[in-house]
Amino acid sequence: MKIICIGRNYAKHAKEMNAEIPTTPMFFMKPDIALLRPGTPFFYPKFSKDIHFECELVVKINRVGKNIAEKFAHKYYSEIGLGIDFTARDLQQTCKKNGHPWEIAKAFEGSAPISKEFIPKEELDLDNLSFTLKQNGKLVQEGNTTDMIFKIDSLIAYISQFMTLKKGDLIYTGTPEGVGPIAIGDELVGEIGDRELFNVKIK
Ligand code: MG
Repeated sequence: MKIICIGRNYAKHAKEMNAEIPTTPMFFMKPDIALLRPGTPFFYPKFSKDIHFECELVVKINRVGKNIAEKFAHKYYSEIGLGIDFTARDLQQTCKKNGHPWEIAKAFEGSAPISKEFIPKEELDLDNLSFTLKQNGKLVQEGNTTDMIFKIDSLIAYISQFMTLKKGDLIYTGTPEGVGPIAIGDELVGEIGDRELFNVKIK
């Protein structure tokens, strides 16, 4: 199983990071041990002092595919979930400055909380799908698929040029604006509509 994460897929988030708006999708990967199973707390790691949340819609691949045409991409997923792309922002800034890879900032253990359930896409309007993240009850991120620079089907087409997608692979589709730091004691709740999909406690 692989976890593929899209960077800068929302213009306002690219802006808050002082980054260019991409003209092709940008992705990086997390290992399977990055997945934080539902109900598991996240333990703040010693190597960072600035872990940020990035709440993202997650696409679960349901069959094997390579070089998938965008018009057929919808056949390769049937469910949508919600997750967090935890980012060690301090380490990421250093990596960026030095032109180094991002793994220590993005791919660490537990850096990919995932929802307890995935929603069949037939129940959702993927062209206009809202999701939210609350930190200790306060709304901090609110995203909508209408603001995605690259839509789900084009992401699948793009990624599958480079690597075969397999059943169970997860694509974290990028975060909207409003990213921010977490602290020990925090509770992060992600929702699609009024369905609570994850509740992550920071310890
Ligand atoms: Mg992200």
